[in-house]
Amino acid sequence: MAENVLLRHEDVPDIHKLDVYLAHDGYVAARKALTTLKPEEVTALVKESNLRGRGGAGFPAGVKWGFLPKDSDKPVYLCCNADESEPGTFKDRAIIEKNTHILLEGILITCYAINAHMAYIYIRGEFAYGAKCLERALAEAYDQGLFGKDIFGTGFDLEVYVHRGAGAYICGEETGLIQSIEGKRAYPRIKPPFPAVYGLFGCPTIVNNVETLACVSSIIKNGPDWFRSIGPESGPGPKIYGVSGHVEQPGMFELPMGMPLREVIYDYAGGIKDGKQLKAVMPAGSSFPVLTPDEIDVHMDFDSMRAIGAFLGTAGIIVMDEDTCMVRALEIIDRFYHHESCGQCSPCREGTGWLHKLLVRLEEGNGKAEDIDLIDRICTNMMGNTVCVLADAAAMPTQSYLTKFRAEFVAHVTAGGCPLKKAAAQPEAA
Ligand code: SF4
Repeated sequence: MAENVLLRHEDVPDIHKLDVYLAHDGYVAARKALTTLKPEEVTALVKESNLRGRGGAGFPAGVKWGFLPKDSDKPVYLCCNADESEPGTFKDRAIIEKNTHILLEGILITCYAINAHMAYIYIRGEFAYGAKCLERALAEAYDQGLFGKDIFGTGFDLEVYVHRGAGAYICGEETGLIQSIEGKRAYPRIKPPFPAVYGLFGCPTIVNNVETLACVSSIIKNGPDWFRSIGPESGPGPKIYGVSGHVEQPGMFELPMGMPLREVIYDYAGGIKDGKQLKAVMPAGSSFPVLTPDEIDVHMDFDSMRAIGAFLGTAGIIVMDEDTCMVRALEIIDRFYHHESCGQCSPCREGTGWLHKLLVRLEEGNGKAEDIDLIDRICTNMMGNTVCVLADAAAMPTQSYLTKFRAEFVAHVTAGGCPLKKAAAQPEAA
């Protein structure tokens, strides 16, 4: 890829300003879509591009749009999921703050394709600056007639609202997000019915992630063949990889989908900090299995990751070096899920709390040998038994830590606490 698409601010300073964005082909794709294409033709192009959702699930965006009922007389809504809360994930924030109009243009084109005249950008409460960026960019775009009534003289109307959340992870789950916009507690809903049929205010609704929507204008501008030429056919396009943890150069890297994980860590993020050895990688935020150093030659795309029992998720890559205590790392992860469980389902509400308590016990040196298998059994009983996938998001990484780093869990029992901590506390031999 010659030039960044999503992190374009790295090539074009001030691309978040409307005049700069317009000077660099901004809203050309939206004009093309609204003035020369029928809505179903836009959807067909997105389907042809094989753009897959960047929020974690990887569902094809065009196919999702096609699930909207054809015979409904209810209004259709678009919800842009900007509730980016996955640990280790910070890609959407960059688009929102630094390349704001590419998201807004994607929203405009998508609304046209799905015949929505109202869109909500649901942004997590902590992103106060991001919300300001969106409000400012929207005001600029409204002033230029890019939103509101009769856009490009086509008769198409669109209103866009920025809706700030209050800082709950579960609002990133699409039905929790919908509940929250409706002013209710963000309890995820049982699916089906899916939002495409029964969504916001009981109307057909499409929920798409920020990065997904930010890809739409480049597909319309350059064509689906161009998009499919970037990365693997089964899930192509530009992708932001966010790398954090024990690397020399943490940050975001826009690269083709399907990059080898090893290359992202060593060639782009500068390798492991201070020349240490790699111990583990969480390649997809915290909600999916952990990988060991011998698994990092995997290509970062939906299907290659699944083939090794992992997931692409948000491609928020968390790197851990040789000094990391895996029990402590997992305890932090499960504390997060326990805190963020909405409490609606007992396997999740009780299970996440139970996992966390057992891990604290191991870490503090009070664990028993049978706790390790108990943790594993709790996970098995949580998975697939709840309204949303938060319970699985806690159970999956937990089971993978137990499987791949079991010796460390056992060592916490036999040593009566963290052996790494104890070793660090020992005075150096003379
Ligand atoms: Fe709430 Fe957890 Fe049930 Fe999801 S799985 S609905 S977060 S209790």
